[in-house]
Amino acid sequence: MHTYLNLKKSARISHDFWEVTSEAGMFDIVVSGLGDGRHRALADGHEFVNMSSYSYLGLDTHPRIVRAAADAVLAEGALNSSTSRMRIRFGSLRDAETALSELFDVEAVTVASCAAAAWASLPLLASGLLTDDVPPLMVFDKNAHFCLNALKPAVADEAEIVTIAHNDMAALEDLCRKHPQVAFVADGVYSTGGAAPIAELLRLQEKYGLFLFFDEAHGVSTVGEHGRGAVLEEMAARGGMNDRTLIITSLNKGFGASGGAIFLGRSGDRKRRDTALRNGGPLMWSQRINTAGLGAIMASVELHRSPELKELQLRLQDNISLFDSLVDTSFGGDGLPIRFVDIGSEEATIRLAGELLKRGYYTSPIFFPVIGRGKAGLRLMLRANMAEAEIRDFCTALNDGLRAEGLAAGAVGVEAVGAEEQRR
Ligand SMILES: *Cc1c(COP(=O)(O)O)cnc(C)c1O
Repeated sequence: MHTYLNLKKSARISHDFWEVTSEAGMFDIVVSGLGDGRHRALADGHEFVNMSSYSYLGLDTHPRIVRAAADAVLAEGALNSSTSRMRIRFGSLRDAETALSELFDVEAVTVASCAAAAWASLPLLASGLLTDDVPPLMVFDKNAHFCLNALKPAVADEAEIVTIAHNDMAALEDLCRKHPQVAFVADGVYSTGGAAPIAELLRLQEKYGLFLFFDEAHGVSTVGEHGRGAVLEEMAARGGMNDRTLIITSLNKGFGASGGAIFLGRSGDRKRRDTALRNGGPLMWSQRINTAGLGAIMASVELHRSPELKELQLRLQDNISLFDSLVDTSFGGDGLPIRFVDIGSEEATIRLAGELLKRGYYTSPIFFPVIGRGKAGLRLMLRANMAEAEIRDFCTALNDGLRAEGLAAGAVGVEAVGAEEQRR
């Protein structure tokens, strides 16, 4: 018991912090949307900007995507087909999967969420069904997302599991040398900041035949040509997607639609598609993306193909650079939109988040079990649809707050230009 999970224990550790978060009004905020990441709280009419939204390109409120969702559900005349997709499915599901497969040049299947994509694919990989019937040694990065770690008990029933330190490539290579079949499970872009050493992982794949499983919930749309994400972008120079790689992603975040997807392998790999659909749990049941979500996917794919995508990615990069020039944070300068403000004390984190909310900015306090105990801080996410003045004002508020807590504030004003120039 409790080899991989102990919810009672983690609930006990995080209980007090959730209580304080709740008391500070930083939890369960009910709002109406005002567009561009702005919200109005229904309880007191307080307006604020969400500085911790996953909608990196602002596609969650893109008028064409919203319209396509409404049109699709009306055109189909049903929200769900209410039968297993394996047996009977709507043309809109086929069309959305074909569009995703063509956009990213992979064999894509959709599922209700990224978490369901993990459920459908990780035990399958552990079983050996994707690796010539030999169950691989399943190596997890310590910081892999909760939805991957939560599947360890199911994975352990199929294969041996090893967890290694975050991005520890020496440990991974050592395991590759000792075991004939190894699979590595990681996030492409980590939800708490930073990325996997993707180029190095692909080198290990070439050298040892390492199987790579990536969660690209934060990489897809955000970076890469047509928003293919950090992993497929790196793979492009090596012939693109291959049959020793599997990628899952969310379509609820940067992609601006709904659900999740599994990129099973090379485009047209029917065999792998059949293996996944016939044995991949959630893929077989009634949990497909509904017709509104499928309409949104079609519109978002079109947008990913258009020049607008690149413009939004560039605007996001400008906003990331501006932020990095004003505030020093972990991962500053990495070109990714996730920033973590180290604070340490959980009380100070909540106090600072509360002050920022008063000044019109919501930030996510992060603490155990999302990250280690006593390592609390604020998770920030930059978006393409943030105005320059908004970012500057927020950074001033954040630096004021850090100073008030006796923590070093980032460089503001004149020095900031220097810091930005240094990076270029
Ligand atoms: C949000 C997130 C998920 C879960 O995505 P859903 O579509 O909400 O299930 C999975 N992995 C990572 C890294 C995430 O940040």
